Amino acid sequence: MKSHNSAIVIGSGFGGLALAIRLQSAGIATTIVEARDRPGGRAYVWKQDGYTFDAGPTVITDPACLEELWALSGSRMADDVTLLPVHPFYRLLWNDGTAFDYSNVDAELNAEIAKLDPADVAGYARFLEYSKGVYEEGYLKLGAVPFLDFTAMLKAAPALAKHQAWRSVYSVVSGFVNNDKLRQALSFHTLLVGGNPMNTSSIYALIHRLEKLGGVWFAKGGTNALVSGMVALFERLGGTLLLGEKVTRITHEGKRVTGVETASGKVLTAEMVASNGDLVHSYGLIEGSAYAGGKVRSLRRKSFSPSLFVVHFGLKGTFPGIAHHSILFSDRYGPLLKDIYKHGSLVDDPSLYLHHPSATDPDMAPEGKSTFYALAPVPHMGRAPVDWAVEGPRYRDVVLGRIRDLLIPDLDERLDTCFHYTPQDFHDDLGAHLGSAFSLEPVLWQSAWFRGHNRDDHFPNLYFVGAGTHPGAGIPGVVGSAKATASLIV
Ligand SMILES: Cc1cc2nc3c(=O)[nH]c(=O)nc-3n(C[C@H](O)[C@H](O)[C@H](O)COP(=O)(O)OP(=O)(O)OC[C@H]3O[C@@H](n4cnc5c(N)ncnc54)[C@H](O)[C@@H]3O)c2cc1C
Repeated sequence: MKSHNSAIVIGSGFGGLALAIRLQSAGIATTIVEARDRPGGRAYVWKQDGYTFDAGPTVITDPACLEELWALSGSRMADDVTLLPVHPFYRLLWNDGTAFDYSNVDAELNAEIAKLDPADVAGYARFLEYSKGVYEEGYLKLGAVPFLDFTAMLKAAPALAKHQAWRSVYSVVSGFVNNDKLRQALSFHTLLVGGNPMNTSSIYALIHRLEKLGGVWFAKGGTNALVSGMVALFERLGGTLLLGEKVTRITHEGKRVTGVETASGKVLTAEMVASNGDLVHSYGLIEGSAYAGGKVRSLRRKSFSPSLFVVHFGLKGTFPGIAHHSILFSDRYGPLLKDIYKHGSLVDDPSLYLHHPSATDPDMAPEGKSTFYALAPVPHMGRAPVDWAVEGPRYRDVVLGRIRDLLIPDLDERLDTCFHYTPQDFHDDLGAHLGSAFSLEPVLWQSAWFRGHNRDDHFPNLYFVGAGTHPGAGIPGVVGSAKATASLIV
């Protein structure tokens, strides 16, 4: 194994930050080069009219994987970041008025299940056992190990077979419980990492166990406050964060990468480079390499997760009856997802995730006001060539209309501030291929060895970290990918 003592990490998403902290903690002088004016990547933040609007992740699970980053240097996450528990984890709502509070309190959850169908309480207990098994195999054993060769994949095969990983989460859940709403409640989680529960491997049922064991948390001040805490740790360790520096080229000599060049003209050299950027975009930065050109072409043929349409809005008043996290299900589940994932339709009856952070942390909004965002999965730009400058305002009204109808009848009168974020923005701001919100779709044939490798196969000192690499999207996923990548370096 080659040892390195200087590193460049392109991008300051959760994966990039976690890797940079691991490298810097190991004594490798690390520079993060971030294109945007703030760190965080998909966990960017806007402060507008006194409101704090987190751009992306809001559900913090497995806090232990984050605490580990501080523990590497003998420090404590609690000194930089306060995590607040969220209860219920989610409130699931359907158009017929059914509400289901989802948490890890057994008695409460069983009572909610019994309200839907008492016969499913026993089936749920069996599902829980199943999710425990996939969590142990898929997350604890394999979630933070690099899959650099096919042998590693073969070693994992018996566990995958035992848990019938070729089946979808929805199919496995349906084998345990009969109530249709409960099937949705136990399978929607894959959407949080870009996967259609109808196609995503049942291994992803591990998220249920992950949440049950570790809880669901919210960072005081918003998810970007957690990003700030990670940056503070990284800088205390001696690391350097450059903001507003877009990498335009990864330089190389022969089979080794030598550094990066940025749009402002900076030339930085290091013994290794790790990219937290989009995979297609990253390989595109390696000019004059037939190998990298081939990678771009082969990656473009892969299946990418859909994008998201996010409406951020502030309302006058407070809403104690609206949970921190709500899912507003459409009347259609599988067929709706097929429209988005396969047919590339911009549906008029979207299922929504509604974020209401001021329910947990009132400081997220001005006094007497409330912060919200509502997101709808939408096709990526390769499936639906939508002109978002035109469609955006119309779709914002579709999304807000659903919330008005189901939860806040006087939403229009209360609206204080509002803006939206589209697939085009994911593409333009983050270099996301096709504007995908979660990179490669998390299907079995794009997982582990079939996903982006944590170390490149051709350039031995070029590494990758983040949603496009193993194990995949989501904060625990990309923080796990950082651990896998770091294990190849340190
Ligand atoms: C709206 C939304 C909600 C989500 N909700 C949740 C949730 O509740 N819980 C959860 O766990 N996960 C959630 N996710 C998923 C999670 O946010 C992502 O999977 C994760 O944050 C991605 O991290 P990453 O390490 O891949 O980096 P990214 O966040 O993709 O960051 C990559 C960084 O690289 C930078 N970069 C790219 N190219 C260059 C370049 N050429 N030069 C310099 N810098 C460059 C970008 O500017 C960016 O800052 C959500 C995602 C979205 C979009």
